[in-house]
Amino acid sequence: MMSPFDLNRQNGKLESKIVVALERISEAFRVLLWDESKKNGLSPIQIQILIFLLFHTNEKCKVSYLANEFNMTKATVSDSVKLLLNKGLIKKMDDPADTRSYTIALTEEGKFTAENSANFAISIEKPLNSLSEEQNEAIFSGLMKIIDGLNKAGVITIQRMCFSCMHYQNSNGQHYCKLLQSKLATTDLRIDCPEHQ
Ligand code: SF4
Repeated sequence: MMSPFDLNRQNGKLESKIVVALERISEAFRVLLWDESKKNGLSPIQIQILIFLLFHTNEKCKVSYLANEFNMTKATVSDSVKLLLNKGLIKKMDDPADTRSYTIALTEEGKFTAENSANFAISIEKPLNSLSEEQNEAIFSGLMKIIDGLNKAGVITIQRMCFSCMHYQNSNGQHYCKLLQSKLATTDLRIDCPEHQ
């Protein structure tokens, strides 16, 4: 059987153990996000939308973009957006580039909630602080490759990371950004770049 959850296979294969470890971490995200949602009387996706709006530029703050970002249908995101509008946490803004469309932005109250909720995953960052720089670099490099692979396989959609950017170049293993006109060390690679194209 080709399952990473099959203990016979898992205990003899590091890659399977890593898959199971990632599942545990995704479970931690789910639990932490759920706790944060309950605290605010919102759903997990509504909290994710508020945090996304807090840190991303206006042209990305559209229902269709959010649906891609969170790998959900437009109808599901629309429902959450309606509820956030009704609660006065977000507001609609006309899109000057497209009169049939609109972007959304946080209200003052929405900004307050988003800022308070934005560190919900900080307890996942804490154990990483006790690792060496080399260990963190190896983890980051491996995760970037996994995310890139999942993106190319069509499992997850938008990734604003260097490996999927038109400005990215790799010659003989050296990362380079044509926009920044600069070599990038592994730790300089971006996972959510505002300049990603
Ligand atoms: S730093 Fe940003 S602009 Fe440059 S290659 Fe990476 S994602 Fe693209």
